Amino acid sequence: MKNVVLGLARNEHVKRFAVAFPPARAVVDRFVPGETTDDALDAVRRLSASGIHATLDHLGEYAGTTELVDAQVAEYLRLLERLGAEGLSGWAEVSVKASALGLALPDGQRVSLANALRICAAADAVGTTVTIDMEDHADTDATIALVEACREEFPRTGGVLQAMLKRTTDDCLRLSGPGSRTRICKGAYDEPASVAHTKSADIKRAYLTCLRILLRGDGYPMIATHDPALIKAAQEYLDLLDRPVDSYEFQLLYGVRPGEERRLAAAGHTVRVYVPYGTDWYGYFVRRLAEKSSNFGLLVRALLSRA
Ligand SMILES: Cc1cc2nc3c(=O)[nH]c(=O)nc-3n(C[C@H](O)[C@H](O)[C@H](O)COP(=O)(O)OP(=O)(O)OC[C@H]3O[C@@H](n4cnc5c(N)ncnc54)[C@H](O)[C@@H]3O)c2cc1C
Repeated sequence: MKNVVLGLARNEHVKRFAVAFPPARAVVDRFVPGETTDDALDAVRRLSASGIHATLDHLGEYAGTTELVDAQVAEYLRLLERLGAEGLSGWAEVSVKASALGLALPDGQRVSLANALRICAAADAVGTTVTIDMEDHADTDATIALVEACREEFPRTGGVLQAMLKRTTDDCLRLSGPGSRTRICKGAYDEPASVAHTKSADIKRAYLTCLRILLRGDGYPMIATHDPALIKAAQEYLDLLDRPVDSYEFQLLYGVRPGEERRLAAAGHTVRVYVPYGTDWYGYFVRRLAEKSSNFGLLVRALLSRA
């Protein structure tokens, strides 16, 4: 079921239908707080009122033309300027995707690095950071190379590793050095069994192994999951290692478990919520549907109620 739903993410016919259909939008609102920079900043203000940080993602993956890539970069620069001007840069950083910065264009590694460096410089100028999301396994090497290249000039650039990939234990060792901001997540893409664990129990086990490596390392682990068992294991491990509260953070996606965000923040942990915004919400939304069958039910009910 999960793979069928993920397959929809790249189906242009289904995409055109969903985007043009208002009931779908009503369900999307749960996971995407809005389309504009103002909507994103409002979400940061609301979260910060509860002591919760944000990482803002301007939706627009797989940008296939120079114009689309340039528009993405321009929006990130505008967003960072406003975070600084409106006194919110202590509460929010940005998350960017290599595919939105031009990785798929000719000479993509050079183009995406140049764009990532511009965004990192703008973030640095207002006192915040950038994390480079991880996409499907074909781009893992290129994305880690991008993170490492950005870190030469901006050492606080964050990277992301996906526990479901069989290679990730080695990558955790590579990204657990001093100061290394590394988000560990399960992985949201439809990956083949040749490179990825496909059973839920195996992915969980791999996540725990990654967590142990990162929490024992000298970096700044960013524990990205909604899974109650993994959150509990992380808390126990943090206690055991006596890790200072400013040396790691928990991360959740906007709209998935708001109660858990507040519970973790009230327990004294740094919590950061991943806030996507923009008009190009389709691919992100389909991945959220694939993660939980009840989300799919929400959508079906919304469609039926207007039919
Ligand atoms: C901050 C953050 C950043 C991320 N960045 C990336 C990235 O760069 N690359 C990437 O591939 N993936 C990324 N992901 C997604 C991640 O890989 C998983 O696909 C996603 O987090 C679901 O896995 P889970 O660990 O939450 O556990 P799951 O097994 O999916 O969920 C465990 C429990 O959490 C709750 N839950 C989980 N998801 C939902 C949902 N959508 N709606 C409602 N309840 C839910 C349910 O109670 C569920 O039983 C990110 C996730 C987070 C939290």
